[in-house]
Amino acid sequence: MRALALFISCLLSFSVRALDTEISVLGLVLPGADANKSAMWLASLEEFWPSSSTGITIKLVNGGVPIPGQTQLQLGIAGSDLLVAMNSDDPIRNQHAADVVMFFGRSFIQGVCGEAIQRNWTSLNDGIPGIFIPAPLIDTLGSEDSYAVIVATEGVNCLSFEEVAIHELGHLFGAGHVETPETTGKYLKADSHALHIDNIFVRAKTIMAESFYTGIQTLNFSTQPSTNTDNLGTLSTTALSVANYRTAPPPPPPCTLSPPQNIHGVITGICTPSPWTRHFVTWDDSCPSATSFYEIWAAQPILNPFNFEFYTAFSSTEVFVFGEDALIKARACEFFNCTSLGLGVYLASSQCNGGF
Ligand SMILES: [Zn+2]
Repeated sequence: MRALALFISCLLSFSVRALDTEISVLGLVLPGADANKSAMWLASLEEFWPSSSTGITIKLVNGGVPIPGQTQLQLGIAGSDLLVAMNSDDPIRNQHAADVVMFFGRSFIQGVCGEAIQRNWTSLNDGIPGIFIPAPLIDTLGSEDSYAVIVATEGVNCLSFEEVAIHELGHLFGAGHVETPETTGKYLKADSHALHIDNIFVRAKTIMAESFYTGIQTLNFSTQPSTNTDNLGTLSTTALSVANYRTAPPPPPPCTLSPPQNIHGVITGICTPSPWTRHFVTWDDSCPSATSFYEIWAAQPILNPFNFEFYTAFSSTEVFVFGEDALIKARACEFFNCTSLGLGVYLASSQCNGGF
C-alpha cells in the first residue's frame, strides 16, 4: 500500500448579492387591539407608501395578516420619548425576514396614538437634525434598534385612524413633523418636515403632520425642499437602507459532518506499474458541505487493525496495493474533527502476483 500525495484543497466561497428593494413589514396584534383595524391599517401602508417616488416598495409578510403578539413588545422611556423595541433577533422577525415590525395595541399613554423613533438618524434632542451615513450605499444601524412601531387602534383620548400607521412608519425613515407650531420632534434633515400651512385644519392634512384631529387629509408625504418640507426626499434617502435591515430568512440548520457510506471501487490496472494493483475507490457523503477532507484507512492483511494512510479532498481516490489484499475504509473530517470510519468497506485485492 502506498500513500498518494497529500492533497487538501481549500475551498473559498463568497457571494455578491443585489441590494433588497422591498421593505418587508410584519404586523403583530397585541391583546385588546382591534384585529380587523390592525389588518386594514397594515394594508394601508402599501396604499400610502410612495413606491414610485422612492423606488422602494412595501411588502407585507405573512400575506398581510397580522400575527398575535405580546411578549415581543418592549417599551422603555428615554427622556421624554417612549422607546418601542423588540429583540432584534426575535424568531418571528427572523422567520419572516421583516425589516420593520408594526405592533397594534390599545392606547398605552393617554392621548398618544402611536410612537416610533429612529435612534440613529435623528438627534436625541428635539429640533436638531440627525445624521445618515450612506457608507458605501446603505446605513443599516437601525436594523438592530429602530425598526419597531406601535400604533393604537383605540384608546384613551386617542382618535386613532389608519393614517397613524403610515405616520409612525415615516418616523423610522427620519421623516419629521411640521416645524411649527406643533412640537418639532425628531427628524433627519433640516428639510425633513411635513407641510406647514397656517390653517391648522389644512396643515393637518399631511401624513407626517403631528395634528391628526381633523377629518380630511391629503394622504401624501410633503415634497417641497424650498420650504423645508421634503418628507419625501428623506424617505428617498433612507428607504433603501431600511429595505436592507433584513434581507432573507436565516438559512436552515446546516447538515452535520457524517461518516462516508457505500464505499466501493473497481480495479483500474494490474501490474501497472508492477508490482502495484490500482483501484479507483469512491463513497457517498450525505453532507459534503460540512466535510473539508477525507481520511483513507486500510487494514493489510485484512485481519489487521485499520491504520491511517492518506488524505483526499474528494469523495473518491486511487488506491495502489501490492503484497497482501487490503480492506479500505474512509472517514470525513472538518479540520480537527473527524467522524468514525464509515460502515462500508472495500476489498482492494492485490493481483500482480510475482510482480517483483
Ligand atoms: Zn409623529
